[in-house]
Amino acid sequence: MISFQYSRANNIAEAVRVMADNPGAKFIAGGTNLVDLMKMDVERPTKLIDVSKLPLDKVEETTGGGLRIGALVRNSDLAYHPLVERRYPVLSSALLAGASQQLRNMASVGGNLLQRTRCPYFYDVATSCNKREAGSGCSAVGGLNRMNAILGASDSCIAVHPSDMCVALAVLEAKIYVIGPRGERVIAFADFHRLPEDMPQRDNNLNMDELVTAIELPPQGFAANYTYLKVRDRLSYAFALVSVAVGLELDGGRVKEARFALGGVAHKPWRNAQAEAVLSDRPANEATFTHAADLVLREAKGFEHNTFKIELARRAIVRALSQAARGTSQSQSNKKIA
Ligand code: SF4
Repeated sequence: MISFQYSRANNIAEAVRVMADNPGAKFIAGGTNLVDLMKMDVERPTKLIDVSKLPLDKVEETTGGGLRIGALVRNSDLAYHPLVERRYPVLSSALLAGASQQLRNMASVGGNLLQRTRCPYFYDVATSCNKREAGSGCSAVGGLNRMNAILGASDSCIAVHPSDMCVALAVLEAKIYVIGPRGERVIAFADFHRLPEDMPQRDNNLNMDELVTAIELPPQGFAANYTYLKVRDRLSYAFALVSVAVGLELDGGRVKEARFALGGVAHKPWRNAQAEAVLSDRPANEATFTHAADLVLREAKGFEHNTFKIELARRAIVRALSQAARGTSQSQSNKKIA
């Protein structure tokens, strides 16, 4: 039996202080990923600091016209929140594409940001995995890598980030509020997750002693022309082979502003500034969208079992941009691809 301590934090200051005093500790909220990792002996925290009762469960409008989402808001509550459904439907759609209803009822949005890769070798302690044990090797490079990365991978790790919510947050250019012993700081979403490089054990740029407190959305929500398209092996409760979140601003039949991000292809939600820029002031048609997709994927590299994802991603980008331009977003209740 592996023993660990448990304590419940009564306020944010106490949570931060207890973490600072216990370097091997982990925060726990919904526990939908961490408990699995502990059962499989992948994570061995010396102490669990339960933050689930902290007052971080509100969705509030900001004075600047955006939305501040407490880190403990449940995935289901956020997906069905009237302000999110109306103003940020790409986020609602991405949340409903993820996991199962039972998991969404339990999982917090802070935990969703921090969930770990589902690379099977990461969960199998009998295999080599640089993310689990630095310097041990990567079993996926020459192994079963059908679900793994085609963009931004390194020789050390070819894992992908598993979140759907984060792909939408990348498009919305959210900000992440965190607090630690040195005070509060705000991290731009693009800088929150990291690529594996030679340090795949680090998924993000959060320090070990910091707690995520909130996600802030800017006013622009792309509510008229958006989509979240997720391509996966079965229609529900499956991680993405490729997903695409899109937000468009149109002016007649032309693109005024375009943002799109890919999930299931890299260690973080993947955006490409050049591909988005070539969409601006162009006709919103298949030729334009195909050109943007080609730009994103010209640096893609497949491995033995996942080369198909490059063409899949190309088609998914064109499909998703077309859905958003038509204003016919992908339904998450009827998952037939439109
Ligand atoms: Fe581990 Fe990353 Fe290699 Fe998977 S891809 S085995 S997570 S190092």
